[in-house]
Amino acid sequence: MANETNNFQELIAHCKEYGYIFQSSEIYDGLAAVYDYGQNGAQLKKNIRDYWWKSMTQLHDNIVGIDAAIFMHPTTWKASGHVDNFSDPMIDNKDSNKRYRVDHLIEGFAEDLRGKGEKENKEADDLLAAMDKLLSTNDFVSLKKLIDNNKIKCAISKTCNWTEIREFNLMFSTQIGSVAEESETIYLRPETAQGIFVNFLNVQKTGRMKIPFGIAQTGKAFRNEIVARQFIFRMREFEQMEMQFFIRPGTQMEWYNYWKIERKKWHESLGIPAAKLRYHDHVKLAHYADAALDIEFEFPFGWKELEGIHSRTDFDLKQHQEHSKKKIQYFDNDLKEDGKPYGNYVPYVLETSVGLDRLFLTIISLAYAEEKWTKEDGTEDSRVVLRIPAKIAPTKLAILPLLKKDGLPEIAKELMDECKQHFHCFYEEKDTIGKRYRRMDAIGTPFCVTIDHQTKEDNTVTIRYRDNMNQERILLKDVKRLVMEKIA
Ligand code: ATP
Repeated sequence: MANETNNFQELIAHCKEYGYIFQSSEIYDGLAAVYDYGQNGAQLKKNIRDYWWKSMTQLHDNIVGIDAAIFMHPTTWKASGHVDNFSDPMIDNKDSNKRYRVDHLIEGFAEDLRGKGEKENKEADDLLAAMDKLLSTNDFVSLKKLIDNNKIKCAISKTCNWTEIREFNLMFSTQIGSVAEESETIYLRPETAQGIFVNFLNVQKTGRMKIPFGIAQTGKAFRNEIVARQFIFRMREFEQMEMQFFIRPGTQMEWYNYWKIERKKWHESLGIPAAKLRYHDHVKLAHYADAALDIEFEFPFGWKELEGIHSRTDFDLKQHQEHSKKKIQYFDNDLKEDGKPYGNYVPYVLETSVGLDRLFLTIISLAYAEEKWTKEDGTEDSRVVLRIPAKIAPTKLAILPLLKKDGLPEIAKELMDECKQHFHCFYEEKDTIGKRYRRMDAIGTPFCVTIDHQTKEDNTVTIRYRDNMNQERILLKDVKRLVMEKIA
């Protein structure tokens, strides 16, 4: 039986070594909290995005997709509340000058307490409960007292010499226009949602959409995160996959419960074990929400938010209506119990919002395994494998001629030509077959096919399965069909 370990630092190194994720502008020593996806990472990311897009827009008759611009009219962010409210409470340590998000500082301290004993576990729970309560009322004075009373220290200076708590806006700003005086400050969008809200009427009218319906979008979002850490978990430039579901006022709890269950099931359909997912209800609700929860995943560094489900009421559409002075309403001609139509109203919104990079990290951290085992002859063997679900793996099939001669490459290339029309294949003829298998394990290729001399005699090949390393002989003509069945 294989002996597995899972180490986060080794996963990060592995992502770099095998072309998944690089530090941005690495040759200039990188840019904090910004990452580039390499040849395998970009493909995996695309596959996850496509899987989400398909499940939202193709598998739901009443959800359509759009692609709005990153730049938006500056009033958008005034209307959405981001100019005034999109900030986090921060605190600086006066000795190290290091800035912390208050909730992260307290959570970190609570995490350190945990596991030391029952008394400490209870203290950690009480501390987090007290923090949630104070955050929900923006009581910064008491939050500061909580930090002081618990003697929470800066990780760098190891002192408790803190500033007062202040708000820090997370939006990046820039100028539009070529002449400085004419320029106007605009923002890089901190969420993709607003591009959907401002297009509500465009889509509803041109698509003749009937409530309830959804608008889905994937794309970049930017946040000037102060505490950027844990690899691609918290980045300054990242990608979101969001869906805004427009509903009749008063039905929001019904849809909230529907999407809560639906989204968790969707994550499970990607091979994420149910035991590694949980709900976390928000105590502090955002200014636009009447109910909110996170779907959390147990990352290698603990339980953290993977996706947010928010009941956003009619806040956003009403705000845009007010700031644009344009009516944003829907006429609902379905009949009420009294036989009259529901008539005109500003729809309520149920949002599902998942970070593509966070989902990538979820998939890859579950997939990564270092395995050791004893072979039949008593010798030790090992491998590093990425058990990425076949349907989203970057490369589906490796086609490997055993030798570079005797007509084997020709057969292999013919198979390659047949298969590459349908899924991503990789051809390699260098090195021993064992080494080639190991490389394919390391990038997560679920199937390898070896073409050998027997292939010439009976048209069979060896197919090798990444997950259990089993091998079997199958007909050459069945390879494409078999792989397509497994990745469907
Ligand atoms: P957090 O509490 O972790 O900062 P959030 O509550 O601010 O997240 P939302 O505004 O709900 O996040 O954004 C929706 C999703 O976008 C999150 O569930 C997460 O997956 C993703 N996301 C948000 N901020 C980042 C980031 N800085 N880097 C990567 N993904 C992010």
